[in-house]
Amino acid sequence: MDSESSGVTVLRPAIVHPAAMSEFETYTCEHCGESFRAHPSANAAENGYCSPACESAGKSL
Ligand SMILES: [Zn+2]
Repeated sequence: MDSESSGVTVLRPAIVHPAAMSEFETYTCEHCGESFRAHPSANAAENGYCSPACESAGKSL
């Protein structure tokens, strides 16, 4: 669950713009279980993955 404290580097796409944070909602990644914020209309929100890496990993399972 808490992968960051175990020395694993988690890459995040820089898609969050502070000025639009109020429009973003919090989701839980289907693959790594980490909470992330995404715009409801974004692909991340539809797919339920926090990053392209998690998306491809999750879909391959
Ligand atoms: Zn993830």
